[in-house]
Amino acid sequence: MESVCLNHPDTPAVTRCAACGKPICAKCIVNRDGSNYCSNSCAQNASGASGRVSDILDTKKKTERKSTVRTLIILFILIAAAAAGYLYYTQNKDEVDAMADKATKNVQKGIKSTKKDLQKGIPTSSKYKRNREALVD
Ligand SMILES: [Zn+2]
Ligand SMILES: [Zn+2]
Repeated sequence: MESVCLNHPDTPAVTRCAACGKPICAKCIVNRDGSNYCSNSCAQNASGASGRVSDILDTKKKTERKSTVRTLIILFILIAAAAAGYLYYTQNKDEVDAMADKATKNVQKGIKSTKKDLQKGIPTSSKYKRNREALVD
């Protein structure tokens, strides 16, 4: 290293501060968590900042892992339900088809009877209206 220590102009620097990049000599090195710093405040700032960053990354990773697991579980349930439904259908094809047919017929029947009721209902209500008009007169 060509540069000299900022605190000792006669001493060649052996490394640079990991936080601010200042050249420092062996006497000035403040070692923390395997990194070299020019001062205690740089060491504190750096370890505090990296601690925060790794905390955030850790939380993010945990959240991602959690949501991935949840997605996988939901996916698995959906696949299992689909597979079970398909299996049931293939094993009871006639039954399911008959049920679907019956359901369709019931719906059609329901629509027809609703129509009938409506047609029945219209004259009744107009009769009621007429009665009321008669009362008013
Ligand atoms: Zn120094
Ligand atoms: Zn520094």
